[in-house]
Amino acid sequence: MSAAEGLLAGQVAVVTGGASGIGLATTRLLCQDGAKVVVVDLDPEASQAAVAELAGAGHDVRAEVVDISSEESVAALARGVLEEEGRVDVLVNNAGINAAAMTLWDTPPEVFEKMWRVNLFGTYLMCRAFVPTMLEAGYGRIVNVASVAGKEGNTGSSAYSSAKAAAIGLTKSLGKELAGTGVICNAVTPGVIRTPLAMRTTPDHIQRLAAKIPMGRIGEPEEVAEIIRWASSPRCSFTTASVLDASGGRTTY
Ligand code: NAD
Repeated sequence: MSAAEGLLAGQVAVVTGGASGIGLATTRLLCQDGAKVVVVDLDPEASQAAVAELAGAGHDVRAEVVDISSEESVAALARGVLEEEGRVDVLVNNAGINAAAMTLWDTPPEVFEKMWRVNLFGTYLMCRAFVPTMLEAGYGRIVNVASVAGKEGNTGSSAYSSAKAAAIGLTKSLGKELAGTGVICNAVTPGVIRTPLAMRTTPDHIQRLAAKIPMGRIGEPEEVAEIIRWASSPRCSFTTASVLDASGGRTTY
């Protein structure tokens, strides 16, 4: 099937963190499904590379270099996207950061606050900016990328895990608030996935993590992106305020 005949033909998708890892894999799939994709990312070089790859393959894609944790930047982004595209059908809130492993009592307030600002507050700002246009259209799909760490906590990761837990709470609340409007909101919770974010740790550590995964291996970004693709599409019609794991069977840390 060509992109023009795809499930998302004529739709506009915004993917935060869409220039790397899970976000880039998602951008590729949504482009294949025929959506016009706006990649929203902090990294200008990675954004340029993503656009060059996908536009080179004939897809309709552009990038906006934006920090999703800044209220002013997100407001300007939303104004620009709505002016230019006139609609947003899909919002994937995937941008996220993690910090070096440290106990809660070693975590400085600025690190704790930064984890919350990007992983939670950024998701809130993006939802707040784009939900009204989806409500007007009576259609929308929102996917928030949280983490299995947000479901059960993770040692050495209280700031990240608590922000991701809050992102799950936000998703469940927003999904319920929007129920029956045509706008659907779900969370996807990856386990350990082979991306630049996860690969900052040592091969030894990755091996130890993989040993705790029932499937015996870490995941690939494309395996998470497939779930996001489904939750971003009209095929996801009776699932909202839900949390979908992509973790090889591992539900706890
Ligand atoms: P990644 O580092 O490969 O990609 C994240 C992207 O987000 C980068 O391109 C980065 O520039 C962008 N970004 C970071 N802060 C931003 C900001 N303030 N504004 C705009 N863009 C910003 O990471 P990934 O592993 O693909 O992670 C994607 C999501 O999946 C994150 O939310 C992460 O927490 C979550 N996750 C990842 C794993 C894993 O093992 N990789 C596990 C669980 C959850």
